[in-house]
Amino acid sequence: MRPEAGPELAPGPGRPAGTPAVREDLALSPGYHSPQVEVGVRLNTNESPVPPPEEWRRALAAELDGVAFHRYPDRQATALREAIAAHHRLSHDQVFPANGSNEVLQALLLAFGGPGREAVVFEPTYALHGHIARLTNTSLVRLGRRPDFGLDPAQVDQATRRSAAVVFLCSPNNPTGRADRPEEIEAVAASAGGLVVVDEAYGHFCQVSAVGLLERFERLVVVRTLSKAWSLAGLRLGYALAHPSVVDALFRVALPYHLDAVKQAGGRLALGYEAQMRQRVAALVAERERLGSGLAALGVQVWPSDANFLLFRPPGHRGRRVWEALLERSVLVRDLSSWTGLEGCLRVTVGSPEENDAFLAALAEVLG
Ligand code: PMP
Repeated sequence: MRPEAGPELAPGPGRPAGTPAVREDLALSPGYHSPQVEVGVRLNTNESPVPPPEEWRRALAAELDGVAFHRYPDRQATALREAIAAHHRLSHDQVFPANGSNEVLQALLLAFGGPGREAVVFEPTYALHGHIARLTNTSLVRLGRRPDFGLDPAQVDQATRRSAAVVFLCSPNNPTGRADRPEEIEAVAASAGGLVVVDEAYGHFCQVSAVGLLERFERLVVVRTLSKAWSLAGLRLGYALAHPSVVDALFRVALPYHLDAVKQAGGRLALGYEAQMRQRVAALVAERERLGSGLAALGVQVWPSDANFLLFRPPGHRGRRVWEALLERSVLVRDLSSWTGLEGCLRVTVGSPEENDAFLAALAEVLG
């Protein structure tokens, strides 16, 4: 599986004589990037098409007036953690916030992975789980899914029989869009020997969540983000919900003062606008269904989604060519056509009604 080609994957600058080479195990790694190119319709990174509420922006600006910028921020981010805990009806010592949920995932593998330890993924899934495993020298065990992308009990059984330090689930799964059923997650949590990390970056777009299982399963970790449903990808804030001992371990690997004062205030205030978030999510879910019908009407194979994106396969597995033709029309989607199990597939983020119409019109032209 390799990430789509993009401008960031061009060879880097030459190395001055005498400077050390990058670690050997990273030398061949292309890194992990989605192209950030200038386009009219950007539907490749599952961001929200609408900004957060104006009231939030004003409240943050007012709050910034009182920030002591000459001082380090609260190292424990207590007020932010209390706000997150209240949102989930948990206690603040069960919350570890970081700079985006990617950094949470990195902290998890820094603390619990590493040389001599294993992390399990069920592919196709979010490529960063495997990427961070490689960066942290954690050995990666790549298991599969059923043809409909659901969890395969035989593969789950294989995972839980290993003594892996971490088993990753992703629900709803990126890039397939499908959420795991609570009983499936419970079965993994009940039988795995190590931590079971459920990445719920898209959790607000569906009805099921593993958060309710935390009470019973002390080795369960649920990872969430403010980048999607909360419309705050630019703030870079995500968090883990876990047993206090896991949270304690994550703070040990985090750098001192890893969360700046602006982010701590922005995240805490954002959680006060939950009703607006739920309204945006409801509108996006309705758009998702409309976009799905539009794709099906074009003769495209499209999978059901519990998230804010749709996986689809243009006829004749022409994914890469269709991706290029859409880009020529200033529409950017995600190219997954070279991923094992997703041959010829693309992924489109649910955008605003206008963006979705522009995407469907461009696709109709390309396929026509
Ligand atoms: N998990 C999944 C499944 C994702 O799709 C993403 C974003 N692409 C992330 C985590 C990371 O999100 P962020 O770092 O913005 O919180």
